[in-house]
Amino acid sequence: METTRWKLTNDAKIDAEAIHSAAELLLNGETVAFPTETVYGLGADATNEAAVAKIFQAKGRPQDNPLIAHVDSSAQLWRIVDYAPEYVEKLIEALSPGPVTYVLPSNGTCASNVTANLSTIAVRIPDHPAAQQLLQTCNIPIAAPSANISGRPSPTAAAHVWEDLQGKIAGLLDGGPTGVGVESTVIDCTQDIPIILRPGGVTREQLESLTGKAIIDPALAGEAAAPKSPGMKYRHYSPDVPLWLVEGNTEKLQQIISAEQHKGKRVGLLASTDTAAQLQADAKLSLGRDASEIAANLYESLRHFKSGEVDVIICEAIPQTGIGEAVMNRLKKAASMHLTE
Ligand code: AMP
Ligand code: MG
Repeated sequence: METTRWKLTNDAKIDAEAIHSAAELLLNGETVAFPTETVYGLGADATNEAAVAKIFQAKGRPQDNPLIAHVDSSAQLWRIVDYAPEYVEKLIEALSPGPVTYVLPSNGTCASNVTANLSTIAVRIPDHPAAQQLLQTCNIPIAAPSANISGRPSPTAAAHVWEDLQGKIAGLLDGGPTGVGVESTVIDCTQDIPIILRPGGVTREQLESLTGKAIIDPALAGEAAAPKSPGMKYRHYSPDVPLWLVEGNTEKLQQIISAEQHKGKRVGLLASTDTAAQLQADAKLSLGRDASEIAANLYESLRHFKSGEVDVIICEAIPQTGIGEAVMNRLKKAASMHLTE
């Protein structure tokens, strides 16, 4: 399949034509990747089962991992869900459009493969001009997981989508790098209190200030066996080379790097700007100065070191507060080893 790639330019006329062509493909049951404020999504008509099946096919995504339905507004959100507890309206008012996904009882409008046959549906209103224009033009819910091969780091630039999915999807809207860099916060809104199923762009602190209380799915804290969010059990975000996530100070990081080099291994270092400046390794990449910068650079950084170039990636852990909670959730999944103190 030939993948059409449109570069968004900030020229309203050129961009409107690109969005129109992309919307036409989506309405015809094809898949199109598009930028959102979190990561690039791979979209298909959420009401068309055959179209949605093409997403699973292109990504190699396990069939039991449900997708997020993207809508342009709360009006469209209420068209695909059955009912919601009162606090959901408050959350939508404060946080949407934005990097947050609500899991709510489905009213059956979306195809059954969007929800992997669950009775609930995950819905999000993205806050990105291209995503908004695309959704408004289509005027249907668009199912869209991250636009990467399953198991690889999520795409935060059109080049990442191209690398993974060129020839497997009908179109790609290139809107430049995304902003937040980690995916949306997924919240189970079927109970009296919101339950965070996946940490993301909206922080636990933000949710608690709005609803008084938010619970983290016990499975995320490693206390229960089965995560409520089916996707959380799969291996994710894997770089080309094994990554060791290390909690500890610069001395400990340097010790581990030197020990591996002593065994003849070439070590790539991923660390915050300050730490990276203090350490010696075969190759270094700064993750950024603070948690927001690290989130924005995270997936690009995980794609940076290629096999053949280094044998192991040593990655510095960061504090699990604010958006750092989402960053550490992704790093733990990307890591083949997690060294704690
Ligand atoms: P992705 O689209 O790759 O960003 O992943 C979407 C995330 O939302 C995955 O972790 C899914 O398992 C989760 N998800 C989607 N629908 C539901 C649902 N109905 N209930 C719980 N989690 C869901
Ligand atoms: Mg994904």
